[in-house]
Amino acid sequence: IKTIYSFGEGKAEWKELLGGKGANLAEMTRVGLPVPPGFTITTEACRAFFAEGERLPEQVTLELRDALMELQTLTGKELGNPNAPLLLSVRSGAVHSMPGMMDTILNLGLNDETVKGLAQLTGNPRFAYDCYRRLIQMFGDVVLGLDHYHFEQIMERHKHAAGLRLDTELSAKHLHAIIEEYQAFILDKTDQPFPQDPFEQLRQAVEAVFQSWNNARARIYRKIHHIPDDLGTAVNVQSMVFGNRGNDSGTGVAFTRNPATGEKELYGEFLLNAQGEDVVAGIRTPRPINDLAHSMPEVYEELTSIAHKLEQHYQDMQDIEFTVEQGRLYILQTRNGKRTAQAAVKIAVDLVKENVIDREEALLRIEPEQIERLLHRQFAELGDRKAWVKGLPASPGAATGRIVFTADDAERWTKAGEAVILVRPETTPDDIHGILAAKGILTSRGGMTSHAAVVARGMGKACICGCEELRIDGSQKRVSAGERVLHEGDRISIDGSTGQIFIGELPMIEPVLSPECEELLTWADEMRRLQVRTNADTPEDAKKARSFGAEGIGLCRTEHMFMDAARLPVMQKMIMAETLAERKEALAELLPMQKEDFAGLFRAMEGLPVTIRLLDPPLHEFVPDLEELLVESTKQQMAGSIDPHKRKEQEQWIKKVRALNEANPMLGHRGCRLALTYPEIAEMQVEAILQAAEECQSQGIPVQVEIMIPLVGHVNELKRMRQIIEGAAMKRTERNGSPVTFRVGTMIEVPRAALTADEIAAEADFFSFGTNDLTQMTFGYSRDDAEGKFLHTYVDEKILPENPFMVLDRNGVGKLVRWASQQGRQTNPQLKLGICGEHGGEKQSIQFCHEVGLDYVSCSPYRVPLARLAAAQAEV
Ligand code: ADP
Ligand code: MG
Ligand code: MG
Repeated sequence: IKTIYSFGEGKAEWKELLGGKGANLAEMTRVGLPVPPGFTITTEACRAFFAEGERLPEQVTLELRDALMELQTLTGKELGNPNAPLLLSVRSGAVHSMPGMMDTILNLGLNDETVKGLAQLTGNPRFAYDCYRRLIQMFGDVVLGLDHYHFEQIMERHKHAAGLRLDTELSAKHLHAIIEEYQAFILDKTDQPFPQDPFEQLRQAVEAVFQSWNNARARIYRKIHHIPDDLGTAVNVQSMVFGNRGNDSGTGVAFTRNPATGEKELYGEFLLNAQGEDVVAGIRTPRPINDLAHSMPEVYEELTSIAHKLEQHYQDMQDIEFTVEQGRLYILQTRNGKRTAQAAVKIAVDLVKENVIDREEALLRIEPEQIERLLHRQFAELGDRKAWVKGLPASPGAATGRIVFTADDAERWTKAGEAVILVRPETTPDDIHGILAAKGILTSRGGMTSHAAVVARGMGKACICGCEELRIDGSQKRVSAGERVLHEGDRISIDGSTGQIFIGELPMIEPVLSPECEELLTWADEMRRLQVRTNADTPEDAKKARSFGAEGIGLCRTEHMFMDAARLPVMQKMIMAETLAERKEALAELLPMQKEDFAGLFRAMEGLPVTIRLLDPPLHEFVPDLEELLVESTKQQMAGSIDPHKRKEQEQWIKKVRALNEANPMLGHRGCRLALTYPEIAEMQVEAILQAAEECQSQGIPVQVEIMIPLVGHVNELKRMRQIIEGAAMKRTERNGSPVTFRVGTMIEVPRAALTADEIAAEADFFSFGTNDLTQMTFGYSRDDAEGKFLHTYVDEKILPENPFMVLDRNGVGKLVRWASQQGRQTNPQLKLGICGEHGGEKQSIQFCHEVGLDYVSCSPYRVPLARLAAAQAEV
């Protein structure tokens, strides 16, 4: 087999073989763009190199000589010939672009003789010696493993001694001295002189580039981007062009559109009299590409025209590397450019309008997560600001504010007009009001689906979890990491998209769905079959979700309505009640509040379906923590300041909280189990729902009510719940005669419910898969503990392919979903099917829901646009 192809032979489709860079260099050569000639050693050769114990296979060496001869003929130059020296660049180029991760060597072919020839030929000794010192430096670094820092130090010393500031100010003589010292340094460190034989240089360089596939940087990059480790890289050997030949030369990078905003304009930077990495090295500040229009108008025009050609050819925004040598333009690389989420959307939509791609292609080009990122506040620009510490990026968006350590303080400070960041070791449902009040949440424990993360994402708040470096001392109201200690009231900024935490305040930009994004999403709507609903508990959330395109509420968690400061005491009164009469009294107090909640939701949704789930969590979530109560009571006793009445009350509390305490609350007295033992709670909720519906209807607002029962595992539970609900409705109709129609359905979140879906469907108008609990119970993982304790290890070590709380587990949990859907529909062909777990807002899981034939997915408001796009992509 052939292991080397000249640029004239290859084409763009051979990416696997030639790597991205090589395939595109060949493609550009094929269409006649000014690419310096060269050839590509294939990825196959790289794999053979590793298979032979990191040795260049014999055949590759032979082909290398042939390819070189051909290149010499083509260029009329010769490797190692001082009278016409051929100089080469040796460049890595993997299948997936890994910018800057692997190594490049420039000016290869120079030695003590050819450098003199180059000086003479160009009449520019300074230039020739600059190339040579660069070669030795890169060769030393890449091939010999001598950190380039050593070479820079040597050069710095010379610059300093000569009283110079810029590299470009060094004369040929200075450079000559530097080169001598470089060579002495190499001999000293490696016991070998810098190789004077150019072919030996080439052979070693090729091997080193192959080896760079396995350097630490490249490995980490591949891990982050899920690129397989065994692909290997190609090597491109190309004749050099020189941007460092004077002020009519230069090198730069250009994007065919602005990669930050997507604006259609040539965007980029260049440096005069420079080579290779000088642009990114940050030693000299590059100039904006527009300046080129003034300094080299013809070059600018040609670059603009080539940029346009390339974009049309590849049908996407291009990131182009170019070099100008004495006024002549050369293109050294092109690839689809990386871009921000905002730019990605604008570019895709614009390309459709310019008839370059079709709508379907545009929809496929956007990652659903990119859409989500657009909806959160972001920091304007980080500049060179460094993060203080890092945690898990749990809920995207940026927030800045003053540190508080309790939910109550968060609420109090916010009422006083302060923006706050709530900093807690972890959060519990008790902290919900604090989370609601805060601009952002930061915890030192817990994973990406911990309570704080889920709630924050639901609210579209920035949240960083599991920042274990932080020492949070709530009692002293201070938080520290390393040397640095911050106190209550100090300002920090957190970026929930990256997990970075900054000290101080960073400037922010507000998110808006750009017109392009709106347009893209309407194309998605035309294409998708799955409906998209939202999980919303408040009219504000419901309205927000509708503005993002939600087509109903798939889950309203009624318990959130009881957490609020005004209602919690009434709820607690209900829980503390000793008798049915007492409980009913408290419930009667809650009724009008609930009615208002529901009416608000119905109004916000204007006739779209609203699924209300009856009370789900165990009651102990509404009462104070037992430990805290005990501590409090001991404190008071020791202080001796107890009034007997208070004391009695306290003891009752302790008794009650003890009684509510459960060993496994998530498997305990909750969901329909609660409603079946205290039917009056469910009855009150149904009454509130019906009153609200009637009120809206009488005002001409249509309503579609769906009442949902949580945690059903046996058909009889649902049967009894239906009786309770219909009984309550009947009473209401008898009393005032205005019937409200509603559907009754069930969550499918207990495995047994999924398995017996055929029986359960007989009693249900709809199923909604509660995949959070279903995953928890199918795996037998406690959702609140698993992530922090072992799940990350499982994922890191590939025991599990993904965190099943984030990406629906198709083979296990998914099988239950599929089975229940089929069985349920067999019993009841009218059965509506939806999903309301966190998975309803995750693209792979949405794809699965589409395949299984669900009617809708429901997700938090900020994920609605993502879900619209993912549902459309599932259709393709
Ligand atoms: P990376 O993949 O890190 O971008 P490249 O292989 O693109 O590495 O090489 C880095 C830089 O080296 C290029 O951007 C270009 O400036 C310079 N370079 C590479 N090949 C040549 C060449 N034939 N002539 C001049 N400069 C080159
Ligand atoms: Mg490059
Ligand atoms: Mg549940």
